[in-house]
Amino acid sequence: MKIEITIDCPDCDGHGKTESTVGGWTAAGPWMKYVTHECHHCNGTGNESVVVDDYDTLEEARLEYTDAKMRAA
Ligand SMILES: [Zn+2]
Repeated sequence: MKIEITIDCPDCDGHGKTESTVGGWTAAGPWMKYVTHECHHCNGTGNESVVVDDYDTLEEARLEYTDAKMRAA
């Protein structure tokens, strides 16, 4: 059977967005905020890669890609 294996992007854990903090110092004191931006590694898709491969069972594919999402393709 064909199994479609989707591997999460390691940079954003599959969210497609990364968060970073920016901050500085003004006369009023320090400031800091969170900035969310599209993940550059996966262009916001959240997927590192999608592989379609042939396996006898889903479990067999699971052995090879332990953390990936998969479904019958
Ligand atoms: Zn990413």
